[in-house]
Amino acid sequence: MTYDPQNIFAKILRGEIPAAKVLETNHALAFLDIGPVNKGHVLVIPKAEAATLSDLPDDLAAHIGSLLPRLCRAVKTATGADALNIVVNHGEAAGQTVHHVHWHIIPRFSGDAVHWPWPHQSYAHDEMEQMRSRIAQSLDNANATDS
Ligand code: 5GP
Repeated sequence: MTYDPQNIFAKILRGEIPAAKVLETNHALAFLDIGPVNKGHVLVIPKAEAATLSDLPDDLAAHIGSLLPRLCRAVKTATGADALNIVVNHGEAAGQTVHHVHWHIIPRFSGDAVHWPWPHQSYAHDEMEQMRSRIAQSLDNANATDS
C-alpha cells in the first residue's frame, strides 16, 4: 500500500503533534491511544514508512515483536487488567483507520463492555486442504522471490 507521510502517526514520529509516550527505541515508539478501548490502551509503531504489516521489513517486525512481552507486562501491571488483546488491523476492511502499521495492546477486564465480534465459520469437504495448499504455495513463491 502507498504510504502517506501525512498520516497522524507519521506526524507523531516527526514531533508535529504530541503523544503520551511510554517507550521509545531507535526503531519504535509506544504511546497511549487517544481513544482507548479501555484506559491504558497502548499503540506500538515502527519508525519506518510502512502502511501495513505486509510492508514492514522482517527486522523491524522482529524488533517490535521483541518489545511486546515487556509492554504487555507493563500495561497489565499498570492497569490491573485481567487480560490483554494484542491486535493489528491490516487494511481498511479489517478496521485499519491510520495507515501506518501499529500494534494495539488493549487491557481487558473480566465482564468489561468490550464485545469481540469474532464469528467462526467451518470448512466444507476439502476446502481446508485447498486453503492450506494455496497459502503454502504463496509462501513458497515468496521464498523463491526472496532468495
Ligand atoms: P486502527 O483502527 O487504525 O487499527 O487504530 C487507530 C487507532 O489510532 C485508534 O484506536 C485511534 O483511537 C488511534 N488514534 C487516532 N488518532 C490518534 C492520535 O492523534 N493520537 C493517538 N495517540 N492515537 C490516535
